[in-house]
Amino acid sequence: MRATQVVIDLAALRHNLARARAAAPGSRVLAAIKANGYGHGMLRVARALDDADGFGVACLAEAIQLREAGVTQPVVLLEGFFGADELEAIARHRFIPAVHNLAQLEQLEQARLSQPLTVWLKVDSGMHRLGFPLQQARAAWQRLHACPSVAEVTGCMTHLANADNLDDSFTATQIAEFHRHTAGLPGQRSIANSAALLGWPESHSDWVRPGIMLYGISPLLGGRGEQHGLKPVMTLRSELIAVNHLKRGEAVGYGGAFVCPEDMTVGVVAAGYGDGYPRHVPNGVPVLVNGRRAPLIGRVSMDMLTVDLRGQPGARPGDPVVLWGEGLPVEEIAEHAGTIAYELLCRVMPRVDAVENGA
Ligand SMILES: *Cc1c(COP(=O)(O)O)cnc(C)c1O
Repeated sequence: MRATQVVIDLAALRHNLARARAAAPGSRVLAAIKANGYGHGMLRVARALDDADGFGVACLAEAIQLREAGVTQPVVLLEGFFGADELEAIARHRFIPAVHNLAQLEQLEQARLSQPLTVWLKVDSGMHRLGFPLQQARAAWQRLHACPSVAEVTGCMTHLANADNLDDSFTATQIAEFHRHTAGLPGQRSIANSAALLGWPESHSDWVRPGIMLYGISPLLGGRGEQHGLKPVMTLRSELIAVNHLKRGEAVGYGGAFVCPEDMTVGVVAAGYGDGYPRHVPNGVPVLVNGRRAPLIGRVSMDMLTVDLRGQPGARPGDPVVLWGEGLPVEEIAEHAGTIAYELLCRVMPRVDAVENGA
């Protein structure tokens, strides 16, 4: 059997939730598990985090999957609903949509539902993606409150654009403006993603909404999960399937993109972009072979990649390889790939089997 797998460490997941609670002790935790639990398997993550106070997902289909699997916690639809046709299912399953624009508000006002909804009001405090403009927050709240299809406006939420950069004062501005324009409105407040949870304690308020930190990843620019006491949840592992002894001047892989500068040992790993490893990383990106770093060389193929084994010429086919995770932070691979860890985690392909550890 092909050895390429992701190992999902459920104990690490629970540990990271405990870290989030410890960092924001006065807040309830809405765990973000959208996009298949950031690539870790949404249902598996929901089960492991069963003491989260609620779950945040991106759409109704994700939310229904949770209910059908027996998840009973509150489920917040972070982008609300995408059409009035979703409202009855939302009511029936007791999902909690974020209402972020006038179209959604009007659809709610016109709806005739079997039971009224609990909703969040989403306010745009400066990210300029979703949410009512600050100046309209009060009027939107009043209309929601008066709407027969709304049983309760839980409170107001907003999202921060730059919380990953601790030097950026825009975060403080967003928090202050949000509070100023929602002052006096009843209900709870929710502002913080992972970066704000760890870096901006003044953002915590009633509900924090961590995502990436639950998976063990630092949400801060240039950071590593370990610095926050987080443990990596996903390890992408494989093994060597060939070890070649090449001569100086011989080229490796498509396009001959790497030419051996001397006689050397080259390992072939059974993982490639068809598994979700980024194709465009440069030579030199670290790969763990037998727990020790070896530099990637040549082009990443669909099913394979190649590594420089000059540091361990005795390596053999079958030796274990880690592409990221335990012992090799995915943040580091993401930096080499010119992206963020979120993307690498979400892009692990379905053909990669997941095995659970620490259940
Ligand atoms: C995804 C999401 C989060 C979680 O963000 P992280 O950076 O992963 O912590 C929080 N709030 C909203 C609205 C989201 O969509």
